[in-house]
Amino acid sequence: MAANQAQQTGTDKFERYSRQMILPGWGREGQSRLSEKSVTVVGCGALGSHVASHLARAGVGRLILADRDFVEYSNLPRQALYSEADAAAGLPKAVAAAQRLRQLNSQVEIEPHVVDVNPDTIEDLIAGADLVMDGADNFEVRYLVNEACVKHRIPWVYGGVLGTYGLTAAILPGETPCLYCLLGPMPPPGSVPTCETAGVLGPAVATIAALETVEGLKLLLDRRDALLKSLVVVDIWAGDFERIQTQRSQTRCPVCDDGRYELLDAERGSLTAVLCGRNAVQIHPWPAQVLDLAVLARRLEGTGPITANDYLLRFEVEGCQLTLFPDGRAIVKGTGDPIRARALYARYVGV
Ligand SMILES: [Zn+2]
Repeated sequence: MAANQAQQTGTDKFERYSRQMILPGWGREGQSRLSEKSVTVVGCGALGSHVASHLARAGVGRLILADRDFVEYSNLPRQALYSEADAAAGLPKAVAAAQRLRQLNSQVEIEPHVVDVNPDTIEDLIAGADLVMDGADNFEVRYLVNEACVKHRIPWVYGGVLGTYGLTAAILPGETPCLYCLLGPMPPPGSVPTCETAGVLGPAVATIAALETVEGLKLLLDRRDALLKSLVVVDIWAGDFERIQTQRSQTRCPVCDDGRYELLDAERGSLTAVLCGRNAVQIHPWPAQVLDLAVLARRLEGTGPITANDYLLRFEVEGCQLTLFPDGRAIVKGTGDPIRARALYARYVGV
């Protein structure tokens, strides 16, 4: 790869970044700083796809990608890193994203993690990161990221999109309001519209991802003076753009002020999550276990066609499609009912 890299870049590895280095306040110094920074992207769906692509092209040093899901054809209208070939191969998003990003910029160290972002995994995923970028598709993960980033004093940029509008804000623990300060307690599941009910417009995602990335780049370039320090709200269909100045409210925040990390420190149990817009449920057994997919494939031979790759095993039973990962997780597609999904998991995976 080194020879290939030298061919592409000549003797100056920063040559390809010339158009951004001439921007005010960037320069070789900024580019060099960027090349030493490490960023965790939580979720590699629509937002995460665009954010990771921007950051890889811009030349960050290291990208840690975390995603629990695999590529499907229904992702392709919005999720910029993936192709029909990725969907046909059933590749995990983190793996397919890493492959594409390495093609875009071989100078960036890419570290994919096919993993559920939960209280067990989040602290390892953000350890050593200079910045965390939000590509999550649900509030539970965002509030968990908020707690972990406040606890470890890591800046992060929140982003969310629904329908034709979206929100973004940079959060600097100890300096700016955190997500809890901005939005209050986590909305209970089912109380807010999701992309399943409200849909999502691809260019709205691209817009929020761009705004999110710009704030992230300011942080990575140590240009905190240029941060918007605002919650930015955009409806790209209506053409409404709004900046709401963010200030710490007078109300005490359990996360920032009291260091209470309710999600991070919650009692662990088996986790079941209904996946947004998918008619699917994720089962994540606790305690965590390792599945031997080859052994399982042999055991399931009588059930019908089985497909497998290096990262997952997939089969269909009782009108549902089960996709199993080596970390014990399963995504059960064809039902939004967690009880039915758990029953299928117990019956066919048997743990
Ligand atoms: Zn707070």
